[in-house]
Amino acid sequence: MIKAQTSNDLFQRAQNSIPGGVNSPVRAFKAVGGNPRFMVSAKGAYMYDEDGNKFIDLINSWGPMILGHAPELVEKAVRDAIPNSLSFGTPTRKEVEIAELIVSMVPSIEKVRMVNSGTEATMSAIRVARGFTGRDKIIKFEGCYHGHGDSFLISAGSGAITLGVPDSPGVTKGTANDTLTAPYNNLQAVQTLVDANKGQVAAIILEPVAGNMGLVTPAAGFLQGLRDLCDKEGIVLIFDEVMTGFRLAKGGAQELYGVTPDMSTLGKIIGGGMPVGAYGGKTEIMNYVAPAGPVYQAGTLSGNPIAMSAGMAMLTYLNEHPEVYTQLEQTTSRMVAGMQQNLQQAGQQYTINQVGSMFSIFFTDQPVTDFDSAKTSDTTLFGRYFNAMLERGIYLAPSQYESLFVSTAITPEVADQYVQANLEALQEAHQ
Ligand code: PLP
Repeated sequence: MIKAQTSNDLFQRAQNSIPGGVNSPVRAFKAVGGNPRFMVSAKGAYMYDEDGNKFIDLINSWGPMILGHAPELVEKAVRDAIPNSLSFGTPTRKEVEIAELIVSMVPSIEKVRMVNSGTEATMSAIRVARGFTGRDKIIKFEGCYHGHGDSFLISAGSGAITLGVPDSPGVTKGTANDTLTAPYNNLQAVQTLVDANKGQVAAIILEPVAGNMGLVTPAAGFLQGLRDLCDKEGIVLIFDEVMTGFRLAKGGAQELYGVTPDMSTLGKIIGGGMPVGAYGGKTEIMNYVAPAGPVYQAGTLSGNPIAMSAGMAMLTYLNEHPEVYTQLEQTTSRMVAGMQQNLQQAGQQYTINQVGSMFSIFFTDQPVTDFDSAKTSDTTLFGRYFNAMLERGIYLAPSQYESLFVSTAITPEVADQYVQANLEALQEAHQ
């Protein structure tokens, strides 16, 4: 057993002053058993905890650390910005520069507003879509997670599934009634909802590659089908690219799949590890945002200079080094191929989904294409597998319903260590 005393003590203490001992639910390890590890530092592919354990990191802060932890170029940008003040509450040159860069990188974005999290980005985007169309309802997909805004906690993925509360108390009936849900990858179900709510649907929002029910890929024609339907019905199509933006390609999933939404939401990588989100889209829609237009949205710390500096360094690097995406895909494919071989060797049949540097293993022999098929996974087995990996120094997302994220710091050697640990953990989980 790896040492855990200090983390265990801290978790005990944390529960006296923090609800459930953590500041975001999935961190509590409830879905996998055992106590969370408290981290002290991280560099490159590795994280180090309070008990001196070293882990190969496959969550990378849930996505932002695409270059591994503490990359020098982002750290330097932050260090350089600090002496000029941590916050002004006025416009700055950096906000103009990062907006221009985002517009140049993301196909759907002609104008962009910076916020402080992915949740703020999605909440704001649907408000703008509602203001723009004069309609109230939105359509989301079962198992997709768009942050913890009230409208989205209906059939939500990520921690909401993990904890069994995909429909959260505290969300009013009125709000819930305005959120319609369809199964992911099911165009016919969306068409039926739109027909039944003619002229009332403001927006369809989705993860163009879903990462919050484990990784689920869009079926051929699904994204284009939504695009066509939205064009026909005057509905705003929103791609929530908080996870996939700057990760699957420099222009996100919309670049990879060649389908351009009306609006996009961004987060995670855009802040290089700092708390940043953004939403943007067509000029005619974004001109509804105050002070250009009537839809109110604001933020004391929005466009924060330290966060913008980190984000600018990260995005500039990705923009100038498209080979990063080839490298990430190769490393991830090496890991997935190794896992497939392991499954054969262990005589087990489980489903692995991958797009670029995102992947998930589902403990089911069924193909996973939506929330219902994701839920055929054996989560008890996943818990045993997770803990067997942790014992071998591999830090996975502590839930079946999450994607893993590969960083450029994962070398082929580190990838092979992961594959070896995977074989042993698959065998141990079945004992
Ligand atoms: N949208 C998606 C697709 C996400 O994956 C997340 C977070 O994981 C969010 C929105 C919410 O972002 P945040 O946690 O920064 O509020």
